[in-house]
Amino acid sequence: MHPASGTRVLASSAPPLSADPNERAWVEIDGGALLRNLERVREAAAPGAKLIPMVKSDAYGIGVRRAVATLQRARPFGFGVATVAEGAELRRMGVREPVVILCPVPPSTLATAVQAGLVPCVSDLSALAALREAAAAAPGPVPFQIEVDTGMGRAGFCLHERSGWWEAVAAAARGNLRLFGVFTHLHSADEPDLASARRQVERFDEFAAWVRQAPEAQEDMLFHCSNSAGALRLRSVAENAVRPGIFLYGGCSFEAPVRPEPVVALQARIALVRDVPEGTTAGYGATYRASGRERWATVAAGYGDGLPRSLGNKGAALVAGGTARIVGRVSMNAVVLRLGADVPATVTAGDVVTFVGGDSGSETSLERVAEAAGTIGYEILTGLSPKLPRTWLES
Ligand SMILES: *Cc1c(COP(=O)(O)O)cnc(C)c1O
Repeated sequence: MHPASGTRVLASSAPPLSADPNERAWVEIDGGALLRNLERVREAAAPGAKLIPMVKSDAYGIGVRRAVATLQRARPFGFGVATVAEGAELRRMGVREPVVILCPVPPSTLATAVQAGLVPCVSDLSALAALREAAAAAPGPVPFQIEVDTGMGRAGFCLHERSGWWEAVAAAARGNLRLFGVFTHLHSADEPDLASARRQVERFDEFAAWVRQAPEAQEDMLFHCSNSAGALRLRSVAENAVRPGIFLYGGCSFEAPVRPEPVVALQARIALVRDVPEGTTAGYGATYRASGRERWATVAAGYGDGLPRSLGNKGAALVAGGTARIVGRVSMNAVVLRLGADVPATVTAGDVVTFVGGDSGSETSLERVAEAAGTIGYEILTGLSPKLPRTWLES
């Protein structure tokens, strides 16, 4: 691009509200841990499996730009995204590795995918036709993947009706498309009982063996079915690539031979500490009442920042190595904590509390917070407000 026409004003002309990103509430990200978690997946997955880290939803909320730059140091095969816009963003960032789209996208966005040099996936014949049309003007064959449905039920060609669609896929692969890979998605690889996930893997392996013998099959075609849990807990015969996401970002709700290092910390500062008399109520709806004299801290973070409202009267935070329970409902930008007996009396306004992550040797894990909030680690991470400053550490 011509430098002049490519020049864009990145910063808004208004002065930033604060020069200090750690003034109020922030997200701390450990880039070293992110990288080591990817290496752990590499070691646990099938030997030689290509790595396709998933960086959808702004790399699970941590910030895709830094996440990709960090993950590139492990030389992954490519990156996985959910949408065409996410893939195009990676290209604008200068990513040269293959970028594969792994969620179904509206056919109207396929032309953009082709222009951006992404690898779209198709799950039915009408999407295949739309892709062929979008690829008509491309200089060479356009790579694409097919998804097959082994039980997830949200996308994928039906394996039982293979005869109804395979010939069209093969014809496209002989025409202006190139069959880059075949994949499926596991619905229960993170459940305690792996029986259904194993059945999905078997169905996938059976189909993959059949595809490998087709004349349209290429030597370097990708076959993949594993998310984080699959890569760590299951073994597919056909698979030559894996698509880990949550484990890289420190999430692991399942039993696995290795654990991830924590990557994300959510912290905020105390705005006010005070002793309250018995009967004082906390927050909207007055859903908590002090049962005696209690020490409360009001913290400058709320659901508008990504601290789930469902943590009201349920969640907790670490404060100077001690524990403080959330009392009352979480407000948009504030929450009240009851400081426990193990919180030093010296804690005061300006001190830091940790909702997710480590503090003085204690740790409150993403999974624990998710459980208290009645959700999953994925939702906690992707719910962190993009407005919260992200501070990157390289441990
Ligand atoms: C999100 C996603 C993954 C990664 O799953 P994790 O559970 O985060 O490891 C892999 N494949 C597909 C198709 C996905 O949508």
